[in-house]
Amino acid sequence: MKFETRAIHVGQEPDAETGAVIPPIFATSTFAQTGPGETLGYDYTRSGNPNFTRLGRTLASLEGGSFATVFGSGMAAVTAVLSTFSSGDVVLAEENVYGCTFRIFAQVFGKFGLKVRYVDFSDIDCYRAIEDIRPALIWLESPTNPMLKILDIAAISEVAQKVSSPVIVDNTFASPFFQRPLELGATLSLSSTTKYMNGHSDCLGGVVVTNDESWNDKMIFAQKAVGLNPSPFDTWLVTRGIKTLAVRMRQHHANALEIAERLEGRERVKWVRHPFLPSHPQFELAKRQMSGGSGIVTFELDAPLEATKTFVSNLTLFALAESLGGVESLIDHPASMTHASIPRAEREKVGIFDGLVRLSVGIEDVGDLMADLDQAFSRAGLISST
Ligand SMILES: *Cc1c(COP(=O)(O)O)cnc(C)c1O
Repeated sequence: MKFETRAIHVGQEPDAETGAVIPPIFATSTFAQTGPGETLGYDYTRSGNPNFTRLGRTLASLEGGSFATVFGSGMAAVTAVLSTFSSGDVVLAEENVYGCTFRIFAQVFGKFGLKVRYVDFSDIDCYRAIEDIRPALIWLESPTNPMLKILDIAAISEVAQKVSSPVIVDNTFASPFFQRPLELGATLSLSSTTKYMNGHSDCLGGVVVTNDESWNDKMIFAQKAVGLNPSPFDTWLVTRGIKTLAVRMRQHHANALEIAERLEGRERVKWVRHPFLPSHPQFELAKRQMSGGSGIVTFELDAPLEATKTFVSNLTLFALAESLGGVESLIDHPASMTHASIPRAEREKVGIFDGLVRLSVGIEDVGDLMADLDQAFSRAGLISST
């Protein structure tokens, strides 16, 4: 079955007991046992619930993996993976990982002796670090946030295999509709299902998918031992949202690419980035590794802080909000929002200047979105009257 069909049918069979086409929400903390220690497959919701099983089956199928464990958030999934390591273990990470991933490495697991080394994995000379360090895990993210850097997952996984280092890819920005890390050689694919997977900005969730049974055992253990489980209702919402993943992703991609093309080259716009714009430094790799560029567009205004703030505040369809991947468009001003806690010098080193903005382009009519951007350009004094 093709992706679109699996998204609607795998794990989503009608309820066996009642025939309900939409399976119920199993809002229960515990399950009656048929005898002491004998269960019908579930005992306590921290270690399993039919809604988790159903969503896990759908997500494993879409990522091209055998096993999936669902968690209460993307960060709970990150916690599950990191909880498997011991003091002194080394993680070799891409330097532009998601900010909260960086923070949990430094401020939580660092206290327990986990060591993290950062490299620029878009530079093939850095692959040498894999053989030198032989890390306990290689942590990748592609595309990255907010610069949309693309990493060559297949090439990195090949080097990692030589030294038997597992590779994890944070696949949140691409979604499995556009990129499937396990098929490219990664050991684990992690997503915040809060974003594109659910797509409706109404709950949080996370998942780790793998073909490796021992990693799956570790994820199931972490779910119950650390208490990282999601709620039955939230998994039911993601199960509902994911049915439309394919149609949503196609529209996110088309809208984002059109907006990126229309912004590129405009006066007062220094540069525009989207993985499927030919000007993207890794355009060829993006096309090889992904079947679409997703819905995020990052660009830098040639404008001071005040004009940038006026621009983002005057949009009416793009809500000024953190997060991404919902059907509705959002705008983020990293310097004052998502990346505000990073000192200016550090953030400017990775290109996050005051004029940088990140769009999560939704699936509204693209003409309406463009008109909204145009009026905000005008109000911020960023268009000379023509
Ligand atoms: C949002 C996000 C996370 C964390 O997910 P939550 O569901 O917010 O905990 C991890 N990685 C990336 C790339 C994200 O965008």
